[in-house]
Amino acid sequence: MSDPRIAARASYDLHLHTCWSYDAMTTAEELFAAASAAGVRRIAITDHHIVDGLGEAAEAAAKHPDVTFVRGAELTVTCSIGSVDMVCLGITPQAEEALKPVWEAYHEWQREYGAAVSKGLCAMGFDYSDPRREELLRSYRPEAALSVQGLTHVANKLQRAWFVERGFIPTEEEYGPLLRAAEKHARRPAYPAAEFVLPAVKEQGVLAIIAHPAGYFQRDDRDRMELLREELLLDGVECAHQSVPPELTPIYRTWCEQHGLLSSGGSDLHWHEDVAERIGGHIGPDEWWTEIEARLPRSSMMNA
Ligand SMILES: [Zn+2]
Repeated sequence: MSDPRIAARASYDLHLHTCWSYDAMTTAEELFAAASAAGVRRIAITDHHIVDGLGEAAEAAAKHPDVTFVRGAELTVTCSIGSVDMVCLGITPQAEEALKPVWEAYHEWQREYGAAVSKGLCAMGFDYSDPRREELLRSYRPEAALSVQGLTHVANKLQRAWFVERGFIPTEEEYGPLLRAAEKHARRPAYPAAEFVLPAVKEQGVLAIIAHPAGYFQRDDRDRMELLREELLLDGVECAHQSVPPELTPIYRTWCEQHGLLSSGGSDLHWHEDVAERIGGHIGPDEWWTEIEARLPRSSMMNA
């Protein structure tokens, strides 16, 4: 019986977060079990800014040999239009080793960003010192992640609710304005530069795919698309994602074909409650996976 709540389910999901991401709570085991149950036959783990969870993901993959595991990461970079999320697929163990300076830069960025939020709010008279932020992080992040990454920034979803609960702001709508006011007291660091991250990543044979591009592309502004294709050294585009209006998916796909780019799709799941229902939830057809698989280094996959 098909579930009417599931608009689409692809045979692959190349954008998934685990609890090793600062803003996610799902375990790799939950994702592999859900993929296996739903018949999603290939998944990529793409945690925000890090590869710290790939070992745990490999353990889960070993228990689910029917699901191909692609090693990846979602790296946010600073470029001429601001910050852009890049789904990076095909991180071999050798690439992971060679890219240590990149991982270190992101670990440092996460700690500096978190510290700047605390500092800015403290300067405004709110009790959001580092120990308070640590309490909040410990309320949802695994100990193992904290011990590797230190005191990172906090998921907006939880930080927003906590600020309301503590009376920092009367409603969640005031969250953005509060953070902007805090920024005046302590500047938050920009994400690592595209020109530092992407050439290094690509040198290792990793595929650089622009994530959920509708906003970055201003829907389908060709000048913007060309600018980002060159500046971000694109190998592909995440043409299918919940935030991409379905009418844009074929437009992006045609543009990919014109430029020899790959097309990808993913659900971008972060939280427990959605997993069983939404894994593989995107409209990308099988042929996109076939094209991507042909470009992925063998040692960046398991159960292939
Ligand atoms: Zn994501």
